[in-house]
This record gives sequence, structure tokens and C-alpha cells, in this order.
Amino acid sequence: MPDGRDLSNPTPGREPTNAESSTDDPPAATSAQATPPGADLSGPTEKCGVVGVALEDRAASRPLYYSLYALQHRGQESAGIVTHDGFQQHSHVEMGLVGDAFGEGDLDSLAGRTGIGHVRYPTSGGVNASCAQPFSVSFKSGSLGLSHNGNLVNADEIREELANLGHAFTSDGDTEVIAHDLARNLLEADLVRAVKRTMDRIHGSYALTIMHDETVLAVRDPQGNRPLCIGKLEDGYVVASESAAIDTLDGELVRDVRPGELVVLEPDGSGFDSYQLVEREDTAHCFFEHVYFARPDSIIDESLVYEARRDLGRKLWAESGIETDVVMPVPDSGRSFASGYAEAANETTASGEERPAEEEAVEFAEGLMKNRYVGRTFIMPTQDERERAVRLKLNPIKSTIEGKSVTIIDDSIVRGTTSRQLVSLLKDAGAEEVHVRIGAPPIVAPCYMGIDMASREELIAADRSIEEIREEIHADSLGYLSIDAVADVLGESRLDLCLGCVTGEYPYDIDGEDTDRDVQRPVIGDGATASADD
Ligand code: SF4
Repeated sequence: MPDGRDLSNPTPGREPTNAESSTDDPPAATSAQATPPGADLSGPTEKCGVVGVALEDRAASRPLYYSLYALQHRGQESAGIVTHDGFQQHSHVEMGLVGDAFGEGDLDSLAGRTGIGHVRYPTSGGVNASCAQPFSVSFKSGSLGLSHNGNLVNADEIREELANLGHAFTSDGDTEVIAHDLARNLLEADLVRAVKRTMDRIHGSYALTIMHDETVLAVRDPQGNRPLCIGKLEDGYVVASESAAIDTLDGELVRDVRPGELVVLEPDGSGFDSYQLVEREDTAHCFFEHVYFARPDSIIDESLVYEARRDLGRKLWAESGIETDVVMPVPDSGRSFASGYAEAANETTASGEERPAEEEAVEFAEGLMKNRYVGRTFIMPTQDERERAVRLKLNPIKSTIEGKSVTIIDDSIVRGTTSRQLVSLLKDAGAEEVHVRIGAPPIVAPCYMGIDMASREELIAADRSIEEIREEIHADSLGYLSIDAVADVLGESRLDLCLGCVTGEYPYDIDGEDTDRDVQRPVIGDGATASADD
């Protein structure tokens, strides 16, 4: 029986930073410090990044630290590392960015050649230190550390069952639920069977790195919703959310962790074992990883994100291109789309014919400059100032825009506020026309799999036509990419992708929502914990 003790070690008394909002609408004007509209000009927000390493003969803490830096874009709320030195577990978890969370002394104190790490933006559970990860728990036959990217949709059912069995929970996050379930199964089964039993009970999206004593494991949910890959280092192995973390360690990408697979790294860094614990015919890769969340230099499910975004940009031109004087990205996320879009625009006309050689090339320009030093929050006492916040973050280059018809390319529209502000910014700067093109389909429904996407009521596309959205953001025209184009570029059938936020039909069994496939959540509370068929 696990004792339910949380060994994670957030610094007492340190308040969490104000989370960067994924929304592009202002919060109510009651506080002097708030996340502004336009402070985050991105769309939805990724929630977590995970990593694990096993090395031959050097401490794991610094490679983990560098990997977390490489994954910082996946979560900025907290950062943590858990290592094991063969005798005991060491943990350091803090609120804040990676660079702020660890000092030299912290890294030195994380002894051991194996470890896992995590960067987090809260998905399930509150914005507080008790939900920061890796989550640690000690129990009768050892210690566990867990890093989770994703979101379970049946965590409450399992929590209730385990609580009735005497488990004490210290957070309201779903990661602790996985940790307790696994700890319980480890009392009755070996490592591989225990993981399988837990996988048979949890339902939803998960890419996990786990430490059981000094052994590092990696697990991806049976539909592979969130990315996870394996890399080889000169002196060991690494598992990470994105291959960019492997690159940072001068490693080689071996392959993706397969959906439903458990990977067990040898604690001496000499190799890894693979167990295909659950098999499904279809996958449910999150298409938004390719569109927006992942780093462009990462390879996810065998596809280089940068290339995918350029190809999506090319498709965007083919589907909804419009002849304008200049094509501009919304920095930074629209850049790869815009370069593909402009490249295609120079090859064919908007009506699909080959562009005559004598015609002037379509201009691809950086007309919006981003102020990289605007923090995640800043002081804006009044609503009016918040409305103008986009000016703090982006400044138009007037000479690129004045008197011209302009196309701006972005990756998504969530609530529409930022898009409206951008259009008005460009018109104020002298643009004659502003056309908006989006490298993804309209977001019509929320995400339950670990992405901060806003609620249905807040999503501008949930109940509006594209023409109505165009009117609301005051653009001269608006075009989105089709779902088929996304599937085509990613080389997957629609049924191998999660498209829940753009179709309203999900690849998991979620209360009150439709599914797009034959999928059912496991029945919890029927005694299956101890009697699961291994
Ligand atoms: S609902 Fe959208 S953001 Fe969420 S996992 Fe599916 S595709 Fe990704």
C-alpha cells in the first residue's frame, strides 16, 4: 500500500508566477497586474514537456536541465528534475522557468546517472506548487517519479476508487492519480505488468517519463496523442517530448515511442527494452503539435515540423490564396507557414495557373516586429491600456505596409481579439487592405487532452461562419486551411489524427462529447485493479 507521501519539493512560500494566458481576450479589469490581450499573441497553449535519461558514468542532472531548456516552450509554469543514485531519490521542483528554477547547487544535489524532468503549464489541477512535476511518491517497495504530458479524462473515477481504498492525495492533478495507481499495481506485479495494468485503467492522453527507483521508463498512450521519442547519446539514452531536446544533448534520434509502447532504459545507459503493451489500429496524433505547439526543428512522428508547416502554408495558398502586394507572418508562429505560402504564390497564381516569369515576385516580408522583452505579465491598470497591449508586443514596419494590400499568416484564431487588434494595427500603419490566412482549420471546440484552448463559449469559430468571423476581426478577407489539407500534408488518414478541436468529435470517450471512432473508457471500480488480465 503506498503511503501517499508527496516527495516533491517546491520552495515553500514562493508564489507561482502569473500564468501566461492562452486566450486573446482580456481578463476582467479588476487587477492592476494581468495577462494582457496580445501579450500572448499565440493561440492555444501547450501544457507540458517531459524527458528522461540514463547515462553510463556521469550525473543525469545537467543533461536533464539542458533538455528542459530545449522544451521550455511546452510549459513555463514550473520545472523539475528527479534523479536516483541507486540508493535514494533526489528531487528539485520549483515554480517558474527552467533558468530560474535551478541553481548550480540544486543541480549538484541531484545525484545519480538516471533521472526524469518536466516543464509544466497546468492542465489538470490548479496553478500551484503541489501540482508541479515530476510528481514523487514513495511506497513499500520503492520510489516513483512521474512526468506527464497530456490529460486523463477518467482521472476522477480512479481517484475516487483509490481514495476509497485509503490512498491519500496531495494534489488535484491527474498525474498523482497515475502515480498512485502504478504504485499500487507495483505491489502485486512486476514493473511491466504493473504499467500494463495502469494503462488498462487510465483513459486519455499521456506521454509519460517515469522513474521506478533508478530505472527510467517512457510510456505513450495507445493512440499516441502527445509526442514522445527516444534518442541515443554517446554515453546513454534519452527519452523526450521532442527531438529538439535530443539535439541539444548532441544525440541522435532513434525513433518515436510507439503508441501503446513501454520503453525501459537500462539504468547503466547501455540500451533500452521495448514492450508493446497495448495495440490499436488507429492513432490519434494531435495535429496541433505540427501546426503550432512543437518546435519547428523537432521531428514528430517521422515528420519535421518545419517542413510540415511550410507544406501547410503551400496548401493554404492553393486553397485560399489571394493576390496581394506583400505576404507577412505573424511572428513567430506564422513564419514557416508564410514562407511556404509565399513560395507557392510565386509558382502559381491564386487561380492555380503557372505564374508568368515576367510577373513581379510576390513579396515576402517581415512587417511586424516582435518585442522579445515583453514579459509574461505587465502592468496595465485600465481596460483601454489592455486593448492597446498588442502595440507593446508587435510593431509594424510602416514602409513595408503603407499603401499596400497585405496578407498576414497566422497559425490559429482562438477568440479573435488578437486578430482584430492586428488588423487594426496594420490599417493604422497605412495598409490599404488586410487579408488574414490561417494555417489550420477553425477551432470550434475545446481540447480535453492537455491543451489550453478556451471554452466553447469563448471560441470565435464555435458558432460563427467564416464570413461572420471576418466581419468581427475587420479583415478584408479570411481563409482557413481545410481538415483534408492537414491530413494530406501530415500523411495520415483523418482517423489517425486527433481533430477534436476542429470537428467537435474526439478520439477518446469524453463525458458529454461525441467521438469519431469506436472507443470506450475502461470501467473503474469493479475490482479490476487487482484482477486485470496481464
Ligand atoms: S483536441 Fe485539438 S489540440 Fe487537443 S489533442 Fe486534439 S487536435 Fe490536439
